[in-house]
Amino acid sequence: MTNKPYTLQTRVIKDASPIDPHTGAVNVPLHYSSTYHQFDFDQYGKYDYSRSGNPTREALEEAIARLEGGVKGFAFSSGMAAISTAFLLLSQGDHVLISEDVYGGTYRMITQVLNRFGIQHTFVDTTDLEKVACAIRPNTKVIYLETPSNPTLNITDIQGVVKLAKANGCLTFLDNTFMTPALQRPIELGVDLVLHSATKFLAGHSDVVAGLAVAGNDGLAEQIAFFQNAFGAILGVQDAWLVLRGLKTLHVRMKESSCSAQKVASFLQEQEGVSAVYYPGLSSHPGAAVHKAQSDSPGAVLSFELKNRDDARQFLKHIKIPVFAVSLGAVESILSYPAKMSHAAMPEEERNKRGITDGLLRFSVGLENADDLIQDIRSSLSAIDRKEKVR
Ligand SMILES: *Cc1c(COP(=O)(O)O)cnc(C)c1O
Repeated sequence: MTNKPYTLQTRVIKDASPIDPHTGAVNVPLHYSSTYHQFDFDQYGKYDYSRSGNPTREALEEAIARLEGGVKGFAFSSGMAAISTAFLLLSQGDHVLISEDVYGGTYRMITQVLNRFGIQHTFVDTTDLEKVACAIRPNTKVIYLETPSNPTLNITDIQGVVKLAKANGCLTFLDNTFMTPALQRPIELGVDLVLHSATKFLAGHSDVVAGLAVAGNDGLAEQIAFFQNAFGAILGVQDAWLVLRGLKTLHVRMKESSCSAQKVASFLQEQEGVSAVYYPGLSSHPGAAVHKAQSDSPGAVLSFELKNRDDARQFLKHIKIPVFAVSLGAVESILSYPAKMSHAAMPEEERNKRGITDGLLRFSVGLENADDLIQDIRSSLSAIDRKEKVR
């Protein structure tokens, strides 16, 4: 009888802690070496220079490749470095189709950098497959997705888009930062390249900036390897080690934070001062069914809308447990204000059209006790109410 493959809960531990064959160390050694002695004049070893390959970075690259079910992983100095390197696959005259509520840094790269190199783009509401189909052009080379998207957690049907992409000879890239392979494995659904800001859930402790890419096939892996070395935005050794350290608890962190996020979302939905809650774990969310079919959990990020900017300010003044900051995916809960943070560069009209109003707050639920978080939210909401009665 053959054994079942291990679950991800076990694999994050095994994959993130390969035993050092020379010493038996249960953690990957920090190989602080830029260059490598070649023992043979005619035959060089596996490593020659650390931009092209470093054993510590490679341990992380192998771990993420296995967890995502891809053929090869690549570690970069930031999520944007991973994303920007992936875009080097595009040439002058190529066209990229991209989710309209894509991460701000990706938006900037597409609209202010790639455009200067003759790479065309169209933003499209990827939650609607018909709109995706209509926007594909003969020169479309990449369809770029984020699901759930930021900050209103819109859901795209991954397999639906992959089918359209394949029928039209396009590659599919997917930014899996919000889900991680613990909750969603896009390569299993036919995606060609998975991208990550490992700064967020993968590392998980707000202590490192890092990016990862995982190629789903050998041809693409070869190209990304070439561009990683050519462009050179690799992850340093210490930071690779920190991401590996974070990965070991990925499963347990995602499970706990998602469970708390579900409780917080359900609570918020019942509150009078809250005009909307965006979370794919709520049956009221239009993408709930699609999300459920393609992932294991709704995840740890939600957003909710208060009446206006003043209410958001009051709420943030009173809340005690979460930090108020950009970023997400950490052990501590993080509240952010998209209108002034991630989406500050977007004109107000565009923001409102996407639901990113002046009252919207994004909540990345950490590892604090869910009931403590709810109590904190409840008293902060009632502080707004009190102020309104005084008026
Ligand atoms: C943060 C983030 C990025 C960018 O990653 P950095 O590590 O900050 O460069 C890309 N995509 C998503 C969804 C993110 O949240």
